[in-house]
Amino acid sequence: MNSKNIIYDITPFTALDYPDKLACILWFAGCNMRCSYCYNPEIVHGKGNLTNKQVLKFVRSRNLLLDGVVFSGGECTIHKELPDIVYEVKKCGFLVKIDTNGSNPDCLQLLIDNQLIDYVALDFKALPDKTYKITQRNLFSKFAESLAILQNSSIPFEVRTTVHSQFFSRPYINKMVNFLETAGYTGIYYLQNFRNDCNTLGNLINDNGKYLINNFIQYNIHIEIRNL
Ligand code: SF4
Repeated sequence: MNSKNIIYDITPFTALDYPDKLACILWFAGCNMRCSYCYNPEIVHGKGNLTNKQVLKFVRSRNLLLDGVVFSGGECTIHKELPDIVYEVKKCGFLVKIDTNGSNPDCLQLLIDNQLIDYVALDFKALPDKTYKITQRNLFSKFAESLAILQNSSIPFEVRTTVHSQFFSRPYINKMVNFLETAGYTGIYYLQNFRNDCNTLGNLINDNGKYLINNFIQYNIHIEIRNL
């Protein structure tokens, strides 16, 4: 396996980040977006601190303790070494969850084709008109491609959006829900309220946007709120 260090840190245990499973989290350094509400600026700007050998040694040591491994970041799919690491983790018998901004549909397809992933959390940043404003990148079409790939697969996945009132209004969220409905998405859509307790990439002002997503009208899509 390539020896380049790409993992910034490890969270040894989480009961919250993989639905109904006990897991650890591998935090991949670097990201191809620059969301102003990002809670992980040190990871986005950071470099890998751990060798792949160190990471795999840790993962193997969790064999009888955990169900799964979450690949998060940063954006794990920007690293060409990702499939090899996922392969090694799967070989140990773990379930694999990928957290992604959806910008690398080719990587997603490869992982699915090789039966290397078991769950995906896909960020829906915004519709095309606001994607650049929020992420500093124009990658909406890649997100839409990733969504279509997941729709056509049997992999369980969720779609989620972080909501800050500087970027979103209720009518705008309605439009995002409509987009997902039109795309045929039938899973849970998580609206994550912006948290005021962390540093962010864009030093966003504190938000009291709870009113945007509290008591949200139910659509055909099941909507759940996080961080209220
Ligand atoms: S929130 Fe945005 S900048 Fe931060 S890791 Fe996710 S995609 Fe990258």
